[in-house]
Parts: sequence; C-alpha cells; structure tokens
Amino acid sequence: MSGPLLQSCRACGHVWQFRRACCPACATAGPEAVTAGGGGTVWSVTTVLRAPLPELDVPGGYGIALVTLDEGPRIMCRSEAGLAIGDRVQVAVEDDGMPRAVRAGSELEDACGG
Ligand SMILES: [Zn+2]
Repeated sequence: MSGPLLQSCRACGHVWQFRRACCPACATAGPEAVTAGGGGTVWSVTTVLRAPLPELDVPGGYGIALVTLDEGPRIMCRSEAGLAIGDRVQVAVEDDGMPRAVRAGSELEDACGG
C-alpha cells in the first residue's frame, strides 16, 4: 500500500487532491503527480451506522475521517474505531483504492505499511 495520490504545481508548489489540468492557486498547467507520505491529523471523524451499500453494512458500523495530510490537502478516509479530532494518523490506500486512516504508531499502521 502507498500514500494517497496528489498533484503539485511546478510553479508555486501548491498541493491538492483531485486531479486537475491546472493549479487551483495560480492556474499554471501541467501539475506533477506526487504520492503523499501518508502522515496527517484527524480534522473530523464519525461512525456510519446505516450503511449505504450492503457490503459496507458491518456490525458496529464503520469509521469515516477527514484527515489533513502533512502536504496540506484534506481527504476523506475510512478509519479505525476510536479516532478523535487531533489524533495523528497514517493514511494508506488499500487494494480497493480507498484510503484508510489508522492511528500513527499502531499495530494497524505497521500492517498498512506505514
Ligand atoms: Zn500553482
């Protein structure tokens, strides 16, 4: 697993998540693809108890967190239970393409390649 994919402006250094042809800060074309290191801080977190899809319907629900990556962008991730706002996390993209946040320094972080 690896960190989330981001884009970076070659002119001003601005970093963002969603793919764009031009920098949202200065409009320079031709951004560079970068892989985030995965470190970040929980900005918001919740537990989803009513799953929108049957495959997401698990006992006790599942966690969703908004994580501010060290590179700057804030991304939505699956999250382990028990995270709180301000916690340091490691974000890795799972095999299904979804980013997952685990507490930095946890055994799950080691399992996720953090
Ligand atoms: Zn720029």
